[in-house]
Amino acid sequence: MNDCIFCKIVKGDIPSTKVYEDEKILAFLDIKPVNIGHVLVIPKEHFKDIYDIPEETLADISKTAKRMSVAVKKALGVDGINVTVNNEPAAGQVIFHVHMHVIPRIKGDGFGLWHGRRDYREGEAKEVAQKISQAL
Ligand code: AMP
Ligand code: ZN
Repeated sequence: MNDCIFCKIVKGDIPSTKVYEDEKILAFLDIKPVNIGHVLVIPKEHFKDIYDIPEETLADISKTAKRMSVAVKKALGVDGINVTVNNEPAAGQVIFHVHMHVIPRIKGDGFGLWHGRRDYREGEAKEVAQKISQAL
């Protein structure tokens, strides 16, 4: 993808602070970290999002995200780590080359997740679980 920032990072056309690289995967520091040590893990091949990426490639970036999480925890002594993939703008995706965020968390850092949770209405959970199962 010619106009993809992360493809340009893979090619070396845009600089990045690399943490890990192999033939299929690149891990580098997010330019605007939530906390210091925030790493992005990407496949070198361009896929847009979780819908698009082949399962094997997702497995590759997941394994790397696990290794990054252990390394970030060990190196920086953080209190926790979020591993997330944002898909589509409604979910906060800004760069359309699939990437896994490895986000170090510090107690009391205030970056809460998923404010305003709701409860299921009577029968609603079963109905929605069935809908999802049938779509598999
Ligand atoms: P998302 O909102 O999930 O699409 O995340 C995109 C992430 O890419 C953001 O956290 C940005 O800070 C990060 N980002 C954008 N441009 C660069 C870049 N050139 N190098 C490193 N990280 C970047
Ligand atoms: Zn790309």
